Amino acid sequence: AREAKALDARTQGSLATYRRANQVLAGGVASSYQARDPWPIYLERGAGPKVWDVDGNEMWDFHNGFGSMVQGHAHPAIGAAINARYASGTHFAAPTEDAITVAAELQRRWGLPKWRYVNSGSEATMDAIRIARGLTGRDTVVKIFGSYHGHHDTVMVSIGIEYDQIGDHENLASLSYGAGIPQATVDMTIAVPFNDAGAMERRIERLIAEDRKPACVIMEAAMMNLGVVLPEDGYLQAVRDLCTRHGIVLIFDEVKTGICIAAGGATEKWGVKPDLVTLAKALGGGLPVGAIGGTEEVMSVVEDGSVYQVGTYNGNPLGMAATRASLLEVMTPDAYAHLDRLNERILAGCTAVIERYGLPGYAVGVGSKGCVTFSPTKVIGYETFKANQDAAMADLAWLFNMNRGIFMTPGREEEWTLSVAHTTEAVDRYVEVFEELAVELTA
Ligand code: PLP
Repeated sequence: AREAKALDARTQGSLATYRRANQVLAGGVASSYQARDPWPIYLERGAGPKVWDVDGNEMWDFHNGFGSMVQGHAHPAIGAAINARYASGTHFAAPTEDAITVAAELQRRWGLPKWRYVNSGSEATMDAIRIARGLTGRDTVVKIFGSYHGHHDTVMVSIGIEYDQIGDHENLASLSYGAGIPQATVDMTIAVPFNDAGAMERRIERLIAEDRKPACVIMEAAMMNLGVVLPEDGYLQAVRDLCTRHGIVLIFDEVKTGICIAAGGATEKWGVKPDLVTLAKALGGGLPVGAIGGTEEVMSVVEDGSVYQVGTYNGNPLGMAATRASLLEVMTPDAYAHLDRLNERILAGCTAVIERYGLPGYAVGVGSKGCVTFSPTKVIGYETFKANQDAAMADLAWLFNMNRGIFMTPGREEEWTLSVAHTTEAVDRYVEVFEELAVELTA
């Protein structure tokens, strides 16, 4: 209560803004994920690793636009590319040279030959699933229980469920995430638990026996909406083998991991190759750019025109210019080495605090992403997260951070994203605040 009151006091400008915003924006925000009780924090500007809210609070940005700003805010190289492109026209709905340059770089990073563009992660997963369905002529989609893949109907299924409603996850009926999704669509998506290739295999075999062979498995190689949940050894390869054996398209949703955890994302990190990959968030260097990459076979249905993969703003020149500058000038091998070093430092710092004060939790991360998971035992998927996460601690840590100049994603399920502009000073401050929290908790 003390921390909540303190945050209320330092965000009175946000409260005033909220009152005005509420007159014209539904809920006072531009997306439901920007909402927060009792009111959202309205931001004014960002530079490098920092952001400032409308009250003038200066904060190290560990939120980074839900993991989109791995380049840091207002990077000069990206700004120069945007300005140059603006001066020569921002939109034609015709391909430009940058669209080719970016695809060539993505091909190099992911080892997948053919690419298309979209404008968000949701569009990327929506089109990827359509491509898989078009290729196979099948409707059923397998996803991971608790995973988020965007806001289109097919994947708004079996995401946030209270632990006491989970029951027997292997036989769980598909559950709509929010209203407005047709039951027939919900029923076409089957969720299986993460890090359990055996459960996925059993479910797929049952679906085949029911004459409902899946078109695709869509999954994050590392779950990024329960903090960070890494794949257990051998899991991704087992899924790969299972999909290959049954002719099921394997989609790695790398909207969060993509540009952030290695040059070639989770695909490079764990060395298991999907048939399709989806990118967005950090891809566009701060502009709304998404991409889909695939094998020759899978993308043949786009090339022969049997699957429509379309969009007025796909490959928009402004977004492509920012993406080209981001990939070629900012997200260099040195940048990834810097992110790895900083993440090791922050993870080691948090681990040391946890051990020193005997906190029930652990620090986990990869590339630019990480978190402290307040759980006494290791989280391997949605069930273990829901059963063991100390949600009150996660809420308190968020308030504690916000009151001490650490801007974090709202909610208990998110991770930090470091940016190229972050320094040891930024991550050391994070650890220092975490230690202050530990001191108070154990006093
Ligand atoms: N896929 C994953 C793994 C995501 O985390 C998200 C967004 O959080 C999406 C897809 C949807 O992306 P967008 O919000 O750009 O539509």
